[in-house]
Parts: sequence; structure tokens; C-alpha cells
Amino acid sequence: MERKVYVNGKLFPESEAKISVFDHGFLYGDGVFEGIRAYNGLIFRLTEHLNRLYESAHTILLKIPMTRKQLEQSIVKTLQANRQKDAYIRLVVSRGVGDLGLDPNKCKVATVVIITNSITLYPEKLYVDGLKIITVPTVRNIPEALNPQLKTLNYLNNILAKIEAKNSGFAEALMLNHQGYVAECTGDNIFMVKKGTVITPPVYVGALPGITRGAIIDIIQEPDLVETASLPKKFEERLLTRHDLYNAGEVFLTGTAAEVIPVVEIDGRTIGEGKPGPVTRQLIKGFHELTRKDGVRYAM
Ligand code: PMP
Repeated sequence: MERKVYVNGKLFPESEAKISVFDHGFLYGDGVFEGIRAYNGLIFRLTEHLNRLYESAHTILLKIPMTRKQLEQSIVKTLQANRQKDAYIRLVVSRGVGDLGLDPNKCKVATVVIITNSITLYPEKLYVDGLKIITVPTVRNIPEALNPQLKTLNYLNNILAKIEAKNSGFAEALMLNHQGYVAECTGDNIFMVKKGTVITPPVYVGALPGITRGAIIDIIQEPDLVETASLPKKFEERLLTRHDLYNAGEVFLTGTAAEVIPVVEIDGRTIGEGKPGPVTRQLIKGFHELTRKDGVRYAM
């Protein structure tokens, strides 16, 4: 059976799911999106994803033509039509159909697309052995130009960084901000562990407020959230340099697609023992536990 894709209120077979070439999402990258996961019939942290979507849309003055409840119902409808209990959900809201000028007011109604798919960002082996990453020359967009806290359809900054990493033979890039502080990776937030404290840069340095990032912080700060034993208790948000990362005991990345993945080498410097550390392993376990109970349940 061909997969069904939601476009503006209707479900279409994948091959017939189309949008106009005059859509400003296509012409100018004018829009916002979310990548969401469903685990065993539970949409993980859907409220947080919808909050981020509506906040990004609010900042770019894009009116989402549906309420949160309607969006939630449409996501569930798409998952049910595709009989998916486990899925990667791509929710896209673009400015809509306009003409060949930038003026967003020419776009009368925003376009809403929901694709439910499966995703494997990294091979299983990397979760066991850890990932090697490299710092790239492209710095994160400066917040005064296009704030990285918004999840917009303008991903060229990240794509250029990804290309640079790939050209050097690495799967993921470490991105600094324009002042040289650690920001994040192309599609993941970054954390380090030093002497039992888990540390991540504040989002204002130039990072997306990741939902997985938030979940990891909650797991550390709310002791009863998951049952996983021996989780770290100390957390800090502070500016980090590459020197801090090189000399961390552990480093890991977080994202909806990647979940929690250990990093064992950055720019040729071995991190800690050169293998996934105990704190990262516990957080992977804790996160896995959380994904099984925190979310919006839907019936098949
Ligand atoms: N940073 C960037 C640039 C991202 O695109 C993403 C999402 N893929 C993340 C961080 C992680 O955010 P989340 O945990 O919400 O998926």
C-alpha cells in the first residue's frame, strides 16, 4: 500500500501529494517545521513540539491556519492511515502559494503538510562505538540575522556545515557561533560531562531549543521522571569552547532523529576514554524509558 501524506486537510497517496511551485516554502524557504517521533503508539512530547512550531511561526509572522488540537488530530489521522505505531513525523507549515515576489502578504493561506515515515539517522554501531565529529568553517547564523532558535525551512546554514563535514569524511559537524563558542551540530544539540556535571551551551549562543535537549535536562533535574538508576544529578548551562569539549570526560549529541548518541572524538582529539562513557549510557537508557511513557497516545 502506498503511504498517505497529509496536504491541506486531505490525505493523498505519496505519489499524488503535491504543492504548488509558487509556494513560498519552495521559492524562498519561507516557513517552519517540526520533526517529531512516535514510539509504540505514543507521540513523544507533542505539546513541546507544537509550542516550538507556533513560537517560530509567531516570530516570522506566519499564521498557522489550524489550532493545536486540529494539528494533533491531523497527525494522528495520518499515522492511523499509515498504520504506524512507530514513526518519524515531519510537520511542515509554509507561507503558502504566492507569486514571484518576496512579499509574504501575497500568500493568502499557509500550506500544511504532514509526512509520517521511518528514520535511521546513524547506524546502530555508532551508538555502541560512538561518533567522530569535526569542527567546520561555516559558523552558525548570527541571531540578529536569522535566530537559530527558530526552526524554519531555511536550513542552508546547517546544510553547508554538513557538506563540509562530509567532504572531510565525517558524518556530523560541530558548529561554533560567530564568537567562536560551541553552538550545536547540524541537526543535534551538544552536551558534555565533566566531573559528574552535565553541561550544555545556552540556546542564545546560537542553538535550537531541542526537544530532546529539554528531555535530557528534565531527566537530570526531575529525579522521579524515569526509574533508570545512577543518573547524573548535576546540570549546568554555560558557554563552552572547543577546549572545554576536547577535555570533557564524555560528549554526546541529542535530537529527535538521533536520540542520544555518544561522541568519542572531536577534531582528532579523543574524548575521555575514547568510548561511550557511563553517564551517556545511563542517559540513553533514561531517554529510552521516557519515550515509552511521555506523550500523546493514539489508537490504531
Ligand atoms: N539543532 C538543530 C539545528 C536541529 O535541526 C535539531 C532537530 N533535528 C536539533 C538541534 C535537535 O532538536 P530536537 O531534539 O527538537 O529534535
